Amino acid sequence: MAEFTMELNDEQKEVRDWLHGFAADVIRPAAAEWDEREETPWPVIQEAAKVGIYSLDFYAQQYFDPTGLGIPMAMEELFWGDAGIALSIVGTGLAAVGVLANGTEEQIGTWIPQMYGDQNDVKVAAFCSSEPDAGSDVASMRTRAVYDEAKDEWVINGTKTWATNGGIAGVHVVVAVVDPELGSKGHASFIVPPGTAGLSQGQKFKKHGIRASHTAEVVLDNVRVPGSCLLGGKEKLDARLARAREKAKATGGERMKNAAMATFEASRPAVGAMAVGTARAAYEVALDYARTREQFGRPIIDNQGVAFQLADMRTQIDAARLLVWRASWMAVNGKPFTAAEGSMSKLFASETAKKVTAQAVQILGGNGYTRDYPVERMHRDSAIYTIFEGTSEIQRLVIARTLAGMPIR
Ligand SMILES: Cc1cc2nc3c(=O)[nH]c(=O)nc-3n(C[C@H](O)[C@H](O)[C@H](O)COP(=O)(O)OP(=O)(O)OC[C@H]3O[C@@H](n4cnc5c(N)ncnc54)[C@H](O)[C@@H]3O)c2cc1C
Repeated sequence: MAEFTMELNDEQKEVRDWLHGFAADVIRPAAAEWDEREETPWPVIQEAAKVGIYSLDFYAQQYFDPTGLGIPMAMEELFWGDAGIALSIVGTGLAAVGVLANGTEEQIGTWIPQMYGDQNDVKVAAFCSSEPDAGSDVASMRTRAVYDEAKDEWVINGTKTWATNGGIAGVHVVVAVVDPELGSKGHASFIVPPGTAGLSQGQKFKKHGIRASHTAEVVLDNVRVPGSCLLGGKEKLDARLARAREKAKATGGERMKNAAMATFEASRPAVGAMAVGTARAAYEVALDYARTREQFGRPIIDNQGVAFQLADMRTQIDAARLLVWRASWMAVNGKPFTAAEGSMSKLFASETAKKVTAQAVQILGGNGYTRDYPVERMHRDSAIYTIFEGTSEIQRLVIARTLAGMPIR
């Protein structure tokens, strides 16, 4: 187990500086254009692939960094560049983690490389869990997967929504109900390979922020996938369902609810780190502006009303980073989240990003309200952090129930 440290080692500093260079030189200059276009920035993803940032190897290296700081450091730097473009770069990783967490070695080896493609033909992947009537309440999921034993195929029907890269992805990872009696315990994840008949993109959403990241509905109409596409395999699923049925019997057959997926505890710090990146970016612009903008014959930072805002912004960003680093270290080192520290880090960092970016707009005055300055975009982008991977209310619910010793699932 690695000791908790707040100091990056030399190798991590080198990676951080390299990522920062890419964020500053490639991502940031492209941010306004792709925000306006509201399209996936394929050329930027390709650049990231060429230098090795858009690859399984890179994420695996950060993911398995025993200090736990690899992923938060990478997320902070990329999202410092621009949230929409960075999500287009790391969105595939969300689907890849779904396979890493539940797949067999063969599935990991087969599907994850296909999710990324190669630098001459980059691909993206999508993770599809949310549905129109199942957002926070994951247990209400309706997309159904039925096993066709004669053909050893699964038949999937349903509509997914809010899928990052949905419909433009090669590989889609789809969560579906295999036993409706078991609530969220009756869910399983499937690979839908590129080009599978019956999978199509529904509406593409026109969003408030992170507009360079594609978000769409995914319609599954009699989608047939081979048995080998069930993540983890049939034997493991059958054993898991048998255990869940026993447990359901013991609790009087009550349908199991899952309002607030505790299993996300370990991945939430990564979203917190994205929020820290956006918050830091807006703070830096505001600090620079406050030092140079003069009114009443002096820089506006000479006014306590402005300087104290900057002091609070920086304090909250640093506090958010510390919570994120702690939770990430705990996740990598298998520490139990006895106070829902993962949710705490996401809650605090995402609320901080919303607050800090709003203050940055205020400090830039009229300029902050225009698209000539990046804080306007950062303010719009930051609103996503309190919504996806569990809303702030759901984070509070998880933290409160954990503290109270109440079941979350
Ligand atoms: C840009 C974007 C990208 C996304 N990417 C993906 C993706 O790649 N894959 C995927 O599967 N999903 C994705 N999502 C979906 C996202 O995770 C959901 O939007 C989120 O979980 C909230 O669900 P909902 O939108 O249905 O809101 P709802 O669950 O309907 O919530 C509405 C409001 O009610 C509150 N609320 C709900 N229940 C409670 C409660 N018990 N107590 C208190 N308050 C409550 C919520 O906090 C929220 O304020 C994405 C969403 C967006 C906007």
